[in-house]
Amino acid sequence: MAKHVEKAKVESAAPELQFGGVWKYEPAPESTDHFTIAPRYELFVGGQFVKPKSGEYFATIDPATEKPLSEVALAGDKDVDAAVKAGQKAFPAWKALSGEDRARFLFRIARILLERAREFACVETLDNGKPIKETRDVDVPLAAQHFFYHAGWADKLDLLFPGQRPEPLGVVGQVIPWNFPLLMAAWKIAPALAAGNTVVLKPAETSPLTALRLCEVFQQAGLPPGVVNVITGDGGTGAALVRHPGLAKVAFTGSTEVGKEIQRAVAGRNVELTLELGGKAAHLVFEDAALDQAVEGVVRGIFFNQGHVCCAGSRLLVQESVHELFVDKLRRRMSRIRVGNPMDKNTDMGAIHSKPQLQRIRELVAAGVDEGAVLHQAPCELPQKGFWFAPSMFTGVAMSHRIAREEIFGPVLSVLTFRTPEEAVEKANNTSYGLSAGIWTDKGARILWLAERMQAGVVWNNTFNRFDAASPFGGFKESGFGREGGRQGMRAYVRLRGGLLPG
Ligand code: NAP
Ligand code: MG
Repeated sequence: MAKHVEKAKVESAAPELQFGGVWKYEPAPESTDHFTIAPRYELFVGGQFVKPKSGEYFATIDPATEKPLSEVALAGDKDVDAAVKAGQKAFPAWKALSGEDRARFLFRIARILLERAREFACVETLDNGKPIKETRDVDVPLAAQHFFYHAGWADKLDLLFPGQRPEPLGVVGQVIPWNFPLLMAAWKIAPALAAGNTVVLKPAETSPLTALRLCEVFQQAGLPPGVVNVITGDGGTGAALVRHPGLAKVAFTGSTEVGKEIQRAVAGRNVELTLELGGKAAHLVFEDAALDQAVEGVVRGIFFNQGHVCCAGSRLLVQESVHELFVDKLRRRMSRIRVGNPMDKNTDMGAIHSKPQLQRIRELVAAGVDEGAVLHQAPCELPQKGFWFAPSMFTGVAMSHRIAREEIFGPVLSVLTFRTPEEAVEKANNTSYGLSAGIWTDKGARILWLAERMQAGVVWNNTFNRFDAASPFGGFKESGFGREGGRQGMRAYVRLRGGLLPG
């Protein structure tokens, strides 16, 4: 461990960071915010970090430099089985605990997470490539909010489902993607525990470090062994988990393609399923909107988290009368986006998460050019090492173009136009996805008219990419089913027996 110990502090991180074989950091003299990334992480099963029975490990890297950060255990079938069994063993006692006691654990987890916020923000930024500004201000506080919010429901399930006798389901298998690793873990684990379930979580292969660090928080909080188990690994680990007969429910966030595979894997079994999948959100800007604010919303909609956002506003629909003006404003604003070292607190856009993701973005951008759309890229110098892509926008896009239909999952905006609200709705809904949408207009009545017609699980009005644990999130059509967050999210983690027993 000593060889590989690193120390870091968020605020003055940028200038001192040297990305070498192992990244090295000299903290400011007054700093007390030190943390380490271990050279190796094991699986978290039954409340302990345990070596994988598979004997295998894989590296996780910093996508901004391509340097390895640590190596992580690869869970094989036997490890998956051990984790599910640990969840089964812990279930009866966790279920029997009063809601008030379960809430205490969740509150404790939330508080410890906030106490260790800087460390979590740094590790997330290093492992994922997203800017420290976002991990510090969005990912970590929002992850803590999910534990706080769901702690509030743990002792109020009877109020949430009056007269319906809510019961936990059992062991829940949860599989999450790489774009919000800590937040997705919190988003999945918190409601499951609040309702009295136990969990086996499989983080994404390329961003496992914060979910593993969260296990340290569980230990610190004294969470009973086996209530949460975290098994790192690849797609095969995820597939083994969802196949396991000991699960009562599967909750998945990821691509539509894998979501369909999981649907097939659980078909015919007595397993509940929720799927949060891809998106191709329409972001509508009307001529009467506050255009400068709309520009900010559109930039947030597509360049936040490098565009690695399932609900990203990737299809901009601008009313024809203001198209030229709006595109001009956007182009100017895009040239001021600071792309670079994710650990620099002034950075707006960090690294693309992985090489395959960069290849996918490049492929779709090349297709956009080939199909005749006009590419605008912000002038910026990209680092030599690591995975990078400049903020990009296509104009002259037709609905038939791949860049208007397929999820790019990167910092690439496709701009289309419309004339009337009816045409806007028709174009917005002309997609196989239905996760989110955004509307910018000054007219309240128009917002209501549009929101009713938009086939999307989340519709933002005069804002975009705002998240809250109290607000249900989820898709229509190929964006999945089931909701996460809010009262609706709790529904996905209970079985309702109906009828009140006397006394
Ligand atoms: P992905 O390839 O579907 O992977 C998601 C997770 O599933 C990862 O942990 C992955 O492991 C695992 N996995 C892969 N194959 C599996 C299988 N056959 N059975 C079970 N698990 C399997 O998606 P991704 O590339 O990580 O994430 C990008 C996609 O997720 C985008 O399409 C995006 O829209 C969607 N997304 C949706 C939401 C939402 O809330 N709707 C949120 C975020 C992302 P590995 O990492 O080892 O491959
Ligand atoms: Mg990584």
